[in-house]
Amino acid sequence: VIRCRAAVAWAPGKLSVEEVEVAPPKAGEVRIKLVATGICRTDEHLLQGCFPNAEFPVIPGHEGAGIVESVGEGVNSMKPGDKVIPLCIPQCGECSFCRNPESNFCQKSHISEPQNLLPDKTSRFSCKGKQIHHFLWVSTFAEYTVVPEYTVAKIDAAAPLDKVCLFGCGFSTGYGAAINTAKVVKPGSTCAVFGLGGIGLSVVMGCKAAGASRIIAVDINKDKFAKAKELGATDCINPRDFQKPIQEVLTEMTGQGVDYSFEAIGHADTMV
Ligand code: NAD
Ligand code: ZN
Repeated sequence: VIRCRAAVAWAPGKLSVEEVEVAPPKAGEVRIKLVATGICRTDEHLLQGCFPNAEFPVIPGHEGAGIVESVGEGVNSMKPGDKVIPLCIPQCGECSFCRNPESNFCQKSHISEPQNLLPDKTSRFSCKGKQIHHFLWVSTFAEYTVVPEYTVAKIDAAAPLDKVCLFGCGFSTGYGAAINTAKVVKPGSTCAVFGLGGIGLSVVMGCKAAGASRIIAVDINKDKFAKAKELGATDCINPRDFQKPIQEVLTEMTGQGVDYSFEAIGHADTMV
């Protein structure tokens, strides 16, 4: 058992740094020393109590990178010392969703189980005598975590962990939305990206890589515009600078509207 620090959410809105115990990995599991973690808006949604199936107390965080500390019985795809990224959407490689090239939503993910406990329905975390839940299995707001082997991607030994941790959620979500989901392929496409957080900026990078000729970035925080331009946005607009609805502004800017539009804020009303 390893004793280390973790941020524990005891209830919605109640997060504190605690000393926790992290049990050794069981068969088919991997214990990881986390070196870096991002903070995604989804962690904030968890802390606000937005997920009816999440259970408290819980260690949030799902965008991390680290080094394998130890492995359970039967694990042979990685060994202590390997650099890894834990995945909040597993890849068992065997279910029909994993085998279908059009999908990556593994059936071992929260589609079938809530990922608040490991697959054997127990937790590897405890604090002050209480069992602490995992978040999406990965719980990266801890110095050590334990996850199933099929939720871990081994990465290049030279990878800078403080940067590549973003592959764990934000970058893959945004870049993948442009390249794989929307399939921005038409040469010279026009794209609009709403929200320039970790997700939106990654969408901008995906649209640029796909060859979009115009990428209109939209955010109410103008401090986000410099980074968006650096990553490929051609225009940056703030809805608060206009009297009319932003979709009318976009139609005027482009003549007939955009070819692809991405909502990376997380509000149903902006989606509509
Ligand atoms: P973030 O908070 O870092 O960024 C959100 C951005 O939206 C901010 O820059 C903010 O200024 C801007 N914004 C807020 N209200 C706006 C408005 N009315 N008009 C224009 N801009 C506005 O968030 P993030 O981490 O990038 O996540 C974005 C959303 O994506 C969240 O809802 C998150 O839960 C969701 N998410 C989904 C997945 C997934 O589906 N796989 C993965 C990660 C995150
Ligand atoms: Zn996320």
